[in-house]
Amino acid sequence: MKRIRCRLCEAELAETFADLGMSPLSNSFVAKERRHKAETFFPLHAYVCTSCWLVQLEEFESPKNIFNEYLYFSSYADSWLKHCEAYCAHVVSRFKLDAGSQVVEIASNDGALLKNFVARGIPSLGVEPAANVAKAAVEQGVPTEVAFFGTETSLSLKQRGFSADLIAANNVLAHVPDIVDFVAGCASLLKPDGVVTFEFPSLERLIAETQFDTIYHEHFSYLSLLSVERLFGLHGLRVFDVQTLPTHGGSLRIFACRKSAAHALCDSVAAQRHLEAAAALGQIDAYRKFARTVVDAKIDILRFFIDAHQSRKRVVGYGAPAKANTLLNFCGIGTELLEFTVDRNPHKQGMLMPGSRVPVLSPDEIFKARPDYVMILPWNLQAEISESMKDIRAWGGKFVVPIPKVRILP
Ligand SMILES: [Zn+2]
Repeated sequence: MKRIRCRLCEAELAETFADLGMSPLSNSFVAKERRHKAETFFPLHAYVCTSCWLVQLEEFESPKNIFNEYLYFSSYADSWLKHCEAYCAHVVSRFKLDAGSQVVEIASNDGALLKNFVARGIPSLGVEPAANVAKAAVEQGVPTEVAFFGTETSLSLKQRGFSADLIAANNVLAHVPDIVDFVAGCASLLKPDGVVTFEFPSLERLIAETQFDTIYHEHFSYLSLLSVERLFGLHGLRVFDVQTLPTHGGSLRIFACRKSAAHALCDSVAAQRHLEAAAALGQIDAYRKFARTVVDAKIDILRFFIDAHQSRKRVVGYGAPAKANTLLNFCGIGTELLEFTVDRNPHKQGMLMPGSRVPVLSPDEIFKARPDYVMILPWNLQAEISESMKDIRAWGGKFVVPIPKVRILP
């Protein structure tokens, strides 16, 4: 049997964190005319490294195949745009960024974040691997390079005179297969007092809230401050502040700098270390327990669908995020239980969800179908969605959230 090695410390991986069966790549939506064709499924099996405590998936598909035509455009979620504006306002005032500074964002998507810096006259550069979303950024006036980031791209930028006062690598670290090379690239691009920020879903929250559906193939690492401090230490970086954010069900925003930089250590770092120690993230039992909790969550979700089916209630979904594909495929839910889902992103409308083949329609279709239940698949956006779709209550429709336990909203 092939041995799998930790992508951070190269120790052998033998402990299961969550075994979610076989699953296609979660962003490979199926066009209707291809519905008779086969799909490629890969084992969706997360391991935990007992040496550095990084939770991780094996890499089966090259990121070049995953990200070259990406259907996720940041600018479709209102709460995300507000999050970007707030981040920009915070770092500009805290680190005194101005027309003489250089901001670099890695995985800059359609420019949703950087356009806030561009509007303030701060020199900005995006690095984005997906050519179609990079084009959308350039059209909005955000200079963007089409590239994967790592030591090679970092070197090429430095040779062209770039060095960064701020690197924003928000919601990308989890998606990078070679995180060691990625962080090395960030470290070398920083000015001596430069700051790099990373945002990633918190492993401590993932475990506490049974967010098993945030495990999918495009998301290679599940990070804690514990594992990240180990990773940064390899490259002469230190964490000086940690903020907790509500995004993606609970994220951490880490501020790091060179060990020699002047940034003062905030109390938040010790507080997060303490929280993770209290959750026993440095002990194997916490991870073994999660492997069992995931099975309980599946049974709970299936029980809701079985009850709804037996009482002849109609259930549809709202949203077609990557996490929905994990949930539907792991639980074995198809159109027999979930008639369709809807999404505001026109690029997803008319497609079928990978694996489950649940159709993705326009949100208007919910008002035509008048279902009994609307399951909010991007549960992290439940407040925004239940407000924007509140008119389903006109016919007695109810919202349902699948995790941590199935909950019908009042
Ligand atoms: Zn390791």
